Amino acid sequence: MRLSIIVIFLFSAVQLISADVKKKASKKPTPKENSNYFVKKEEKNFSLLLEARRFGRGDVIFFRLTPKDQKWIHESFKVVWMGKDVYLTKQEKSFIAFFPISPDFPGGPMTLDIHSKIFFVKRGTKTYQIDLEPTKFQVIKNRTLKVENKFVSEELSQETLDFIKKCKEAKEQAFGSVSKLQFATNFNYPLDETFITSRFYVRRDYNGKKGRPHGGVDFRGKVGTPIKAIQDGTVVLAQPMYYEGNFTIIDHGNKIFTFYMHQEKIDVKVGDKVKKGQVIGTVGSTGMSTGPHLHLGAKVADTLVDPLSLLVLTSIAEAK
Ligand SMILES: [Zn+2]
Repeated sequence: MRLSIIVIFLFSAVQLISADVKKKASKKPTPKENSNYFVKKEEKNFSLLLEARRFGRGDVIFFRLTPKDQKWIHESFKVVWMGKDVYLTKQEKSFIAFFPISPDFPGGPMTLDIHSKIFFVKRGTKTYQIDLEPTKFQVIKNRTLKVENKFVSEELSQETLDFIKKCKEAKEQAFGSVSKLQFATNFNYPLDETFITSRFYVRRDYNGKKGRPHGGVDFRGKVGTPIKAIQDGTVVLAQPMYYEGNFTIIDHGNKIFTFYMHQEKIDVKVGDKVKKGQVIGTVGSTGMSTGPHLHLGAKVADTLVDPLSLLVLTSIAEAK
């Protein structure tokens, strides 16, 4: 009884915004085509923009809140995405944030809460509800790939096990970095020529064994092809790893990271500030790799997301 009352109360304050989702008409046959979804809400005291490639599993949602009164830019308020506090970044006239949708999200509505006594004088809060769009991740079965046996064998030497453990710790430390948002413009592709050979969360079976979902996107590239940082940031890891090969992780701030695997050569070191488009290394086939390619990965708020969902965002820079 008590629960049903709470539920009714909650839903009375919830606004479903999926009905407002509009798909842009433009259809260019390039991988950078802009067919993103834009949700715009005009509230009494602010306007809200959400942009996403789709509101589906593994995607990132870009959030912008612009107060109607410029003086409110100095007020503090709270935004909660699916029960988790969100890092907000103040631009000149608005606040921006990035929300992940986990590729493993079991389904159901997704909630966005905005808590503010200034924006919502009476209630102090408002909940928006977004419907999840279906996503089907491909499963590739019965495919034998030639991976060196050292990566699938269960009998690894102690030395190797120690190295794997060290790699894991280094990665955890790097992904634990916390910094302020280090960029204010859209993302760039990591290679000049973009050809995707394996998409995000495709599951492959290696040597007959069930594999884990693909944690990023593979780009075709010859050995030695320059790899460019897809966004401004700080290098938090740059070293050889057991599985990832020559591996670089860039911290872009607000728990947004991109990472670059299997490089032939790493051109940066930990602590380096990198700019979007800057060469950080070259394509190779080091680590657990079946041939030269770039594996690009991305994490937002400790959630693995499809890096393409970051690359296609168009609204990050504030309109002048
Ligand atoms: Zn890959």
